[in-house]
Amino acid sequence: MPKPFSSPSKQRVAALRRAYQLMRARYGHLRWWPGETPFEVCVGAILTQNTNWGNVERAIANLKAAGVLEPKKLFALSEGDLAKLIRHAGYFNVKARRLRSFLRLLVDEFAGDLRRLFAGETPIVRERLLAVHGIGPETADSMLLYAGGHHSFVIDAYTKRIFQRHGWWNGEVQSLKFKVQSSKATSAKGNPVQDYDLLKVLCEHSLNENPSSERLDYWQDYHAQLVMVGKDFCRPRQPRCEECPLKPLLPKES
Ligand code: SF4
Repeated sequence: MPKPFSSPSKQRVAALRRAYQLMRARYGHLRWWPGETPFEVCVGAILTQNTNWGNVERAIANLKAAGVLEPKKLFALSEGDLAKLIRHAGYFNVKARRLRSFLRLLVDEFAGDLRRLFAGETPIVRERLLAVHGIGPETADSMLLYAGGHHSFVIDAYTKRIFQRHGWWNGEVQSLKFKVQSSKATSAKGNPVQDYDLLKVLCEHSLNENPSSERLDYWQDYHAQLVMVGKDFCRPRQPRCEECPLKPLLPKES
């Protein structure tokens, strides 16, 4: 594995933009997120925590077969009945509780209308989601980006691993040229700024070359591409750099 380096900001921005071109050339546009409706995307974002997507698909298929994949019907189920229907997704008792917490917000405060829940400035809607039990930054941003039409970049373990291996990210704060605004630097629960938030802001500031009207699709597809590279090549052990589309962007051996 080549030594990571901390690249200057302009180089890093150029590398991040080039990375998309390389991944896109390999995979084409990935048309994420797999979900027929924004509500299905939100349910999938909770169910996919700590499990693979195949298990989520089976759980969602169960919900569809039972005719309950809509906010009020799903919320009308008892926690036990919901847990049975989503058992394929794993941690089903925990996830049933989390789903019900999300549904409580959606149904009780927004009459089951996702458009109303997602209405407003992105930081405000994000805080709204982060206040729900069991919704962390990755889940909230997945909902915002893929269901809510908000410009909110998603960070996950694949992103961190790929960025660290390429020297695009080593957790540094000071060398970032932009300021992390105080509203973004504190989580909904009042915690100090975390790696997640900093890496998110780095991506959002670096990947802003497209007009705003094109950026949603760009960020949706960028995250999808990183997930594919992470799964196919950038494994925790023995990454398959030789075959990876991002190989040209590896730091040079010193
Ligand atoms: S597998 Fe790909 S993304 Fe991971 S370090 Fe190697 S070239 Fe980079």
